Amino acid sequence: MGASARLLRAVIMGAPGSGKGTVSSRITKHFALKHLSSGDLLRDNMLRGTEIGVLAKTFIDQGKLIPDGVMTRLALHELKNLTQYSWLLDGFPRTLPQAEALDGAYQIDTVINLNVPFEVIKQRLTARWIHPASGRVYNIEFNPPKAVGIDDLTGEPLIQRDDDKPETVVKRLKAYEVQTQPVLEYYRATRMRAYVLWPGRKSGAMRGG
Ligand code: AMP
Repeated sequence: MGASARLLRAVIMGAPGSGKGTVSSRITKHFALKHLSSGDLLRDNMLRGTEIGVLAKTFIDQGKLIPDGVMTRLALHELKNLTQYSWLLDGFPRTLPQAEALDGAYQIDTVINLNVPFEVIKQRLTARWIHPASGRVYNIEFNPPKAVGIDDLTGEPLIQRDDDKPETVVKRLKAYEVQTQPVLEYYRATRMRAYVLWPGRKSGAMRGG
């Protein structure tokens, strides 16, 4: 994208496990946007054992949100590397203070909300098992391993990510609802361009802005 082209600043919202990652990657491929996922950013810091990563792990393992100050600094720092690109933010902002901090730094054009029933998400997330060494993901319902609890290729045991365990999932969904509702209201009033409803529910598009 040339320097004079208008840059798009977009946010995608949706509970953990709503399919944000999948939908985001389709949008970013199709429209050539940079994709910044706060969850991926945190997991990358955890893998590299950075100070933020060590701190983030203690919150993520308990199904809690990372404190706003830490999360906002991390996200805004990352966005500084993307100033000449259009981007789609996935997972950030999750709270009103984060949304306000983002508004202080950039003009957000578009907000997409994925509205998926919590029961559907819970079923989906707790069905996910991974092979930690390769990152291979299985789903008990849609993509089960050949033998229960065993990786197809290596024969090694599969594990459930701490934040995919049922008790953690329920905490994450509750935290999402409590923390994110004000953000949705905040955006809905001004910038929510599309309101995507899940198949099986009555659907419709809401245009605003
Ligand atoms: P995700 O992959 O988006 O589900 O993120 C995984 C976990 O990272 C979440 O359950 C939170 O603990 C943490 N996290 C991700 N994004 C944020 C954010 N914007 N604010 C606070 N915590 C976050």
